[in-house]
Amino acid sequence: MELTVIPQIVKFASENTREIGDVLGIGPELRVRWAEGLLDKGPVEDTIFYAGEMYPVMGYAEGAFRLTKRLEGLMNINSLARIGPIMKKLRVYAIGARALWGKNNEIYENALRDAVYVLRNLGVKMSYLFEEEPPSGVALHTYGLLKEFKEHAKWVQNRFRELGVKRVITLDPIVTTAFRLYYPEFLEDWDVEVLHFVEIVAKRIAELGIKLKLGRKEKVTYHDPCYLARTLGIVDETRFILSRIDGLEYLEPPRHGVNTGCSGDGGLELTQPLLARKISLDRVKELRETGAEKVYTSCPACIMMLRTGFNALGYRTDVNDLASLIAEAMRNGIIEEKPATVKFRRYHVLPESPKPKSLDSDDLAELLLRETDRCKKCAFCNVECPVARALDKLESRSARGRMTLINSLVRGDPVRPEAVLDRLYSCVLCAQCSQTCPVGLHVQELIIYGRAYAIYSGKAGV
Ligand code: SF4
Ligand code: SF4
Repeated sequence: MELTVIPQIVKFASENTREIGDVLGIGPELRVRWAEGLLDKGPVEDTIFYAGEMYPVMGYAEGAFRLTKRLEGLMNINSLARIGPIMKKLRVYAIGARALWGKNNEIYENALRDAVYVLRNLGVKMSYLFEEEPPSGVALHTYGLLKEFKEHAKWVQNRFRELGVKRVITLDPIVTTAFRLYYPEFLEDWDVEVLHFVEIVAKRIAELGIKLKLGRKEKVTYHDPCYLARTLGIVDETRFILSRIDGLEYLEPPRHGVNTGCSGDGGLELTQPLLARKISLDRVKELRETGAEKVYTSCPACIMMLRTGFNALGYRTDVNDLASLIAEAMRNGIIEEKPATVKFRRYHVLPESPKPKSLDSDDLAELLLRETDRCKKCAFCNVECPVARALDKLESRSARGRMTLINSLVRGDPVRPEAVLDRLYSCVLCAQCSQTCPVGLHVQELIIYGRAYAIYSGKAGV
């Protein structure tokens, strides 16, 4: 299926996801390097460790992201997306990325290795599919290419069945969300169990009754990734794990758990990198004010945004993956205590997801009109919208502004196509709006359906 023509960068990212397996098009050869000599190939007892398409290449994305700032005024992100295919034709793309940004990638590759080390030491058996690991395709969902996402999900389902995969353990909360929430929406018989790393680690630490010894005193804070905390409701596990590391002084940031703040990713780092960067600074300042020496989180995109934000402000605060902290403490020593059964709550703060009858434009229009007509224009959703916050509460880029735009677009009111693309794609999909809306609109999901409608109806003028 040909991809609909959409802005260069989204087209570039989506084609790379489908054809090469990751948004940047780095390729499987570099993506699997982190696991060489570490894991066996193929499912072990139906279970795989799933690296996903972000962790293995996030350092390259970080390099490209920082480059957009340096090139500000000279070229924009769409120009960079035009250069990518030319470099690929010249066969210098992946080599160039490795030479330029390979060092940046180590922190993400180490996080994957550390996660495997921790799981193994907790008695979890698993293998890795190496080049055969099918990408989740979550970027297609993010950018509103829902027909393509559905087709891709079907392919992944078939690959897992052929390979005998029944259980997936992953470090990536965006992939966890895709497999746990989006796949069942698009596939009738999706039956793969998907667990996030912290769910297993917290459970096993409790069952074994152990504490880990960091071997030094350290003040740390934790940034809850929105996909993990707000969307999946996984909060207790991370706090429990942190409480089981001896030597930590844990400092909670003001916005945390299901009320976490946004680090600026959600795909915006590709479509509007300068805006994404601005959003990250807000969060970085807040984390810095906790007085922590180190910031931990559990999402590759959040690590990238926070690292870039701290760097931009000239702060030397380290940002790293929680898996690497657990591994470091585990290497230092384990203190045996009493096994316990701990109940980890699952938080449900988002409204039910609306479902269109099909992904055809008419059915998307029907859903979008029905839902956006329920909007009371109260603007509660605007208060915590990180984009509106970064743009001095600019209505057109706020959560409410996007609902108004989608309603106008579907009704056929005159709306400039560039404005449609700009406003729909300047959202980080953090779902803070969905959490606060008093009439229960799932604003974030409506924005994704709005993107799909704009593309498939041709009303975005592209
Ligand atoms: S519109 Fe909603 S999902 Fe998008 S950035 Fe604002 S609060 Fe987050
Ligand atoms: S909070 Fe809900 S009802 Fe109020 S403006 Fe936002 S989307 Fe509309």
